[in-house]
Amino acid sequence: MLKDYNQVWKNCLTIIKDNVSEQAYKTWFDPIKPIKLENNVLTIQVPSQFFYEWLEEHFVNLLKKTLTKELGAEGRLEYSIIMENSQRNSSPYTVKVPPSSSKAVKNRSVAMPMTGTSTQIKNPFVIPGLRKLQIDSNLNPNYSFENLIEGECNRLARSAGYAVAKKPGGTAFNPLFIYGSVGLGKTHLAHAIGIEIKEQNPEKTVLYVTSEKFTHQFIDAVKNNTVNDFSHFYQLIDVLIIDDVQFFSGKEKTQDVFFHIFNHLHQTGKQIVLTADKPPVEMQGMEQRLLSRFKWGLSADIQVPSLETRVAILEKKMYTDGIELPKEVVEYLAYSITTNIRELEGALISLIAQSSLNKKSITLELAKKMIDKFVKNTAREVSIDYIQKVVCDYFDLPIELLKSKTRKREIVQARQIAMYFAKKMTKSSLANIGLHCGGKDHATVLHACRTVNNLQETDKHFRKYLDDLEKKLSIQ
Ligand code: ADP
Ligand code: MG
Repeated sequence: MLKDYNQVWKNCLTIIKDNVSEQAYKTWFDPIKPIKLENNVLTIQVPSQFFYEWLEEHFVNLLKKTLTKELGAEGRLEYSIIMENSQRNSSPYTVKVPPSSSKAVKNRSVAMPMTGTSTQIKNPFVIPGLRKLQIDSNLNPNYSFENLIEGECNRLARSAGYAVAKKPGGTAFNPLFIYGSVGLGKTHLAHAIGIEIKEQNPEKTVLYVTSEKFTHQFIDAVKNNTVNDFSHFYQLIDVLIIDDVQFFSGKEKTQDVFFHIFNHLHQTGKQIVLTADKPPVEMQGMEQRLLSRFKWGLSADIQVPSLETRVAILEKKMYTDGIELPKEVVEYLAYSITTNIRELEGALISLIAQSSLNKKSITLELAKKMIDKFVKNTAREVSIDYIQKVVCDYFDLPIELLKSKTRKREIVQARQIAMYFAKKMTKSSLANIGLHCGGKDHATVLHACRTVNNLQETDKHFRKYLDDLEKKLSIQ
């Protein structure tokens, strides 16, 4: 029976619609056009490379499932990407990309020691005759060292990670314990270490696993009476990377089995890399003997990136994706989202998606709207840095001067205005505001606020400055 590609895709969409949010559906599935169906390969047209990658990264499993349902296990999906080649000819041409189904395969073939499926897991690096364990390392190639921007915030962790990658098991950093709050690059660094090791030592068995997955595997092993296999499997790994070990807390049995695996690996000179959202000393619900092991090697934290690092991260991402954005937009993003790189990236991606779908160029205005929506739930406030920037731009002064101790009259006034807005629009303490504005104390900030208040009552030009600035600073 011949199937009609339009109908097939329509059926797929019906399922997809039920499985993604309305917004996601509109953004990512509405613009897709089915093109043909040949030999069980459905070809769909997507608006850009970026689009294709996004689908593959976020919806590959869903697409796979729906397609299997429609076309059977043999069903395949192929993308046709519209390439805008604005220089030479204006009409778009398309390129075909088979799906990187490796990802989907990857997801399924993550090492499952207790089910004994390792024979069907492909590992291109296995050297015949060595009977090494064949597993998928479960590493995301995008999370490389090359893509991990270095900044003051991650210097120690990053270089320790690099040292470990160069000499797994051969440094004092064993385990390497990376900690920091959410969205700051722990997982990225953990993958980078694995990728680098694999590149240098293809024969080594590297495994990245989240603590949740480890726990689930263990629970299954208990159910199936295969705890021994489970332990043995993990003891054969050369480089074990466990992400987010804070989830082990309160799980005594899992901690117990991990403790033995840890000891075995450590004694045999294998490398262990762990990440968590807090340092070992602050972990609750964790066995003492395990915590003390965590402290054997090096604990390195990752902190919130500075403004420069945030800009550098955005620029790197844009460069990789081949996207250009006005400088003011990049700066606005970097100024607005300060404590979570994942959110920063998310905002960038939404912006690009919005503009590529609406064929609108990305302006500061669009960026402001987007960001406001994006961070609505996180009770956003403008940052002192952003206030300083806007004030300096307005009076055409270099921001360094405002942050310096200079007492030049026009600088003093701008600084007072920045302090005034910082007090009014942020939750920062007077002391903190002073610190940001030329290292002044809280009394100076208080004085500044009074001066500005007085002036705005008596000086109508001054009041106009304040009104202008207030407009610029308020979001939207
Ligand atoms: P965590 O595991 O700490 O919650 P992730 O490693 O998942 O954070 O990082 C969140 C996102 O931010 C990822 O997409 C990651 O690539 C990106 N990221 C984090 N730090 C950096 C950095 N220094 N350079 C480039 N990208 C980064
Ligand atoms: Mg993580």
